[in-house]
Amino acid sequence: MKPCIVYLLAAWATAMAAGCDTSSQQPAAPQTPPQPAPSERNVAVEQTAEGELTIQPINHSAVRLAFKGRQYYVDPAGKADWDALPKADVILITHEHRDHLDPDVVAKIRTADTVILASAAAAAKAGFGEMIEIGQTRQVLDITLEAVPAYNLTPDRLRYHPRQRKDNGYILTFAGTRVYVAGDTEGTEEMRALKDIDVAFLPINLPYTMPAAEAADAARAFKPRILYPYHQGTSDPAEVRRLLADETAIEVRVLALP
Ligand SMILES: [Zn+2]
Repeated sequence: MKPCIVYLLAAWATAMAAGCDTSSQQPAAPQTPPQPAPSERNVAVEQTAEGELTIQPINHSAVRLAFKGRQYYVDPAGKADWDALPKADVILITHEHRDHLDPDVVAKIRTADTVILASAAAAAKAGFGEMIEIGQTRQVLDITLEAVPAYNLTPDRLRYHPRQRKDNGYILTFAGTRVYVAGDTEGTEEMRALKDIDVAFLPINLPYTMPAAEAADAARAFKPRILYPYHQGTSDPAEVRRLLADETAIEVRVLALP
């Protein structure tokens, strides 16, 4: 019997080994790349004179900026995983359109202490928020904030963002690092005259704001160090990068921002 048992054991071991080999040769199950957490998507970090500035374009119009542990949102509106994003210390609203002023989203991310600043027309429409008007500068928590004009120039677009409504864009200064979030505007003379902008967000959707070529031309005039085309709708932000390929001092960041 002994040889037989040895034979059987050998056969079993061979079968097991073969089984192991077979399983190790099976193709791996397709892996979906891990999705970053909502608070990490599209995040970039810039060094300021006083520590890191986190920049997160969230969607079509919303931008989150984090500095010294505080959270600054411009135009928090529309679809995003708002419950998974940090609560706001400061909310800035550029103008009254629903894709920029979204009371439901504001209610989700605000706390009892959140400072909310808005253009006069947006504050009036919302029924909340403190007015900040073009040309005004405020110190808010750890940053300086300036309201700048945002309006249409092209005759058949004037009705969307008429200059007399005084919609805002904002320049937020984080220890010397200046971030310009343009809101809904075209390449106005005030935009073209901006100085020392480190990071700019320029809208490119039509018919409401401006084409990629107009945004690229405005960027050539004020030369932000980093440019995010945003508010893109069906326009192609990569077109802005192509048009500015010869401007080596401007880094154009192309993102899909639904
Ligand atoms: Zn608008």
